[in-house]
Amino acid sequence: MNIQSATFKKGIVGDDEILHDETPQVAFIGRSNAGKSSLLNTLCNKKKLAISSKTPGRTKEINIFLINETHYFVDLPGYGYAKVSGSVAEKLYGLINWYLFNSEHRPKVVVLIDAFVGPTKDDLVIIENLEEVHKDIVIVLNKIDKVKSSKRLKRINELTKQFSNHKVFACSSQEKIGIEELRAEVLG
Ligand code: GDP
Repeated sequence: MNIQSATFKKGIVGDDEILHDETPQVAFIGRSNAGKSSLLNTLCNKKKLAISSKTPGRTKEINIFLINETHYFVDLPGYGYAKVSGSVAEKLYGLINWYLFNSEHRPKVVVLIDAFVGPTKDDLVIIENLEEVHKDIVIVLNKIDKVKSSKRLKRINELTKQFSNHKVFACSSQEKIGIEELRAEVLG
């Protein structure tokens, strides 16, 4: 699966016509610092398409990218970021929940988990809530390069078993592991 084009369309903070134009949506969600922007950039073969959660500004919006003229990648704000204050965090959670749990939106939801850290409580809560509303979930065990190669297979097997109801991909933007497979899954 090749990427012919990837362009930023718009940042939204609520309902927008772009969500209703029938283009299939692939949403990316994860704890801040899980490597979401790096993964989006690597998936799209672009250095600076998505912006790291360390950069203020666009990360407070839902950023929508048009990929190959066929799919939208929907970049949701990162969650669990210790440095954002209560009211800002509340707004961000409101935005994430509105998008994910609005029944009019039917995205495939890619949940990034840091493969080295393992799933956090926040990760597990989001996954459970998504399961309850029967969303199509893909789990990415991200930054898999951080797990020593001698322990990698065991780690992948454990986490794949933990999320056995879903498709699981072990990925690394840094070492370009699992990127092609994930691309085929989300654009297929
Ligand atoms: P975001 O906050 O989820 O958007 O995460 P970023 O993409 O900004 O990445 C957070 C940090 O993790 C940065 O320091 C990245 O260089 C690092 N990072 C991202 N992807 C990988 C990866 O595949 N492997 C490793 N080892 N580090 C990564």
